[in-house]
Amino acid sequence: MKLIEFFGPSNSGKTVAITKMAEMLKKHGYSVATVKSTPHSLDYESDSKDSMKYLEAGSNLSVAIGKNGTIFHLSKSVKLFEILEHINYDFVLVEGETGFPMPKILFLKEKEGIERIDDLTIAVVGNIEDENKNLQEIKPGDYETLYNIILAQAMPPLPGDDCGHCGSDCTTMMIGIIKGEKTYKNCVKLSKKSVNVEFDGKNVPILPFISSIISDVNAGILKNLKGMKREGRVKIEFDLRD
Ligand code: SF4
Repeated sequence: MKLIEFFGPSNSGKTVAITKMAEMLKKHGYSVATVKSTPHSLDYESDSKDSMKYLEAGSNLSVAIGKNGTIFHLSKSVKLFEILEHINYDFVLVEGETGFPMPKILFLKEKEGIERIDDLTIAVVGNIEDENKNLQEIKPGDYETLYNIILAQAMPPLPGDDCGHCGSDCTTMMIGIIKGEKTYKNCVKLSKKSVNVEFDGKNVPILPFISSIISDVNAGILKNLKGMKREGRVKIEFDLRD
């Protein structure tokens, strides 16, 4: 990865030049990221427009950094589990259907949407007509109840990549966890000896017994290192290039 900075007063042609360079680099087969750094607060509308301009020119990632925040724009749609690998917050509130296995709360518009109840749905905001659904009903605007449901029933994520090592998929596992029939220990990937192998950013499928061998061998070597604790997740990265 190589970096270069374009700097100078406002309206001196930096944005146009970067747009042009992104276009030319892309044309020659390079992947490009653009970063705009300002000592001022970001204006989300205009700074987002600049970011979009860079993406349209061929930039794969466009970042704007200001005093009040940072905007990331990617030129591709990413799966939720890829995002979760890079963030760590107490709660993640997701709007819209992602297909990622997690407890869901359905918001009805009058009666519209009731057919969207599925096995991951734990509560409905609005009136449920079919009482056999065994779902918690929340009155629109009752944020206290909604808040308490979130505190009690939001769940940590499963890996979400449907590796199949548990004999099923992540959605089935999450449904089992919500119903109290399964626990996170049933997810082989989250188990103590699970190993995640990525090559050039792509996940490599790995059988549980191989996972166990890699885990045991590395644990044996690493436990003697200064700074290692007896328990915890370990991340090792290395380069296979000559
Ligand atoms: S083992 Fe875990 S990650 Fe793999 S399919 Fe089952 S629940 Fe999903």
